[in-house]
Amino acid sequence: MRFNTAMQNDVLQKAREIITGYEGKELRIMEVCGTHTHEIFRLGIRSLLPPAIRLISGPGCPVCVTPVRYIDEAIWLALEKGATIATFGDLLRVPGSSMSLARARQNGAKISIVYSPLDAVALAAKKPEENIVFLSVGFETTVPAECLAVRKAKEENLRNFFLLCANKTMPEAYRALEGSADVFLYPGHVSAITGTEICKTLRDRGVSGVIAGFTASELLTALSVIILESKKGRPFFANCYPRVVKDEGNPEALRIIRETMDPCDSEWRGLSVIPGSGLTLKTEYRDFDAKEHFAIPALPGKQNPRCRCGDILRGVATPKDCPLFGGACTPDHPIGACMVSSEGTCSAYYQYGSEEILP
Ligand code: SF4
Repeated sequence: MRFNTAMQNDVLQKAREIITGYEGKELRIMEVCGTHTHEIFRLGIRSLLPPAIRLISGPGCPVCVTPVRYIDEAIWLALEKGATIATFGDLLRVPGSSMSLARARQNGAKISIVYSPLDAVALAAKKPEENIVFLSVGFETTVPAECLAVRKAKEENLRNFFLLCANKTMPEAYRALEGSADVFLYPGHVSAITGTEICKTLRDRGVSGVIAGFTASELLTALSVIILESKKGRPFFANCYPRVVKDEGNPEALRIIRETMDPCDSEWRGLSVIPGSGLTLKTEYRDFDAKEHFAIPALPGKQNPRCRCGDILRGVATPKDCPLFGGACTPDHPIGACMVSSEGTCSAYYQYGSEEILP
């Protein structure tokens, strides 16, 4: 059946009525994905929610969950080893223990902003006299491109290209977050790669969740499904983003990851080390591992003690609980990663928050 505009408007109206009319017990819904947090704010969906529905922002922003120590390592590589850091722009202003990469650049670090990991490989090929370290952070959505970059560097026999890996995978994180919300709003993009099996496994363990897309209609549909299913009183899972997310995920992307990287324990800002939640290069690609090649020492990884990013990423605080929010910490002068990133919760509250949550 093809949906015409009138039918779609009917569905939207119905979803809206279900959401605004909710009067049951408190329902805590965690937006695992930072893009969901931003879109829900931007589309004004928060203003539709009755008091009994509480949205909790989770740890699904790759920049936000990358620990301070990682920034310290990148700065150490640049300033102590003279490596050129190739990175997406959003990591540039994340504070490390003593400075950000942006400040390190002012202090002489060579930083190159790239738009894909393959750009970093091309840079390494063009500048054989420099060691190029690509900052490899992100979830299942971005890891395949990083794997392909390493493979290309190997094919081209490059000896001056490295990954500083802090990649994360979501399944173990969902398990670590169990109990922090009544329902997970699963990230659509990550689910497009991983498929739905993990969500079904979690449902069978009593954890409810819904995969959602990012448009107003997709988000309203997902929220209304959560409400209807929650009323039934048993764990549930629904894929409300079927135009993109298939049960099997993206087998080709999963194969590339599986053939290039192995699972490892990984440190998440706010969630500490989650066993099996990271990815590291397989033995045959270890020559491209910056940590091994440069023997990076243990670095402090000290966050500003007043910053509450960790609590926010665990869903136990909101930006308005942070004394620095909107005062000492703003997008122009970020003190924590959650204010830097375009997917960060503090940046969403700052951009879209109502007067009531702004100081
Ligand atoms: S407002 Fe700034 S200092 Fe406070 S938790 Fe957010 S990023 Fe950290």
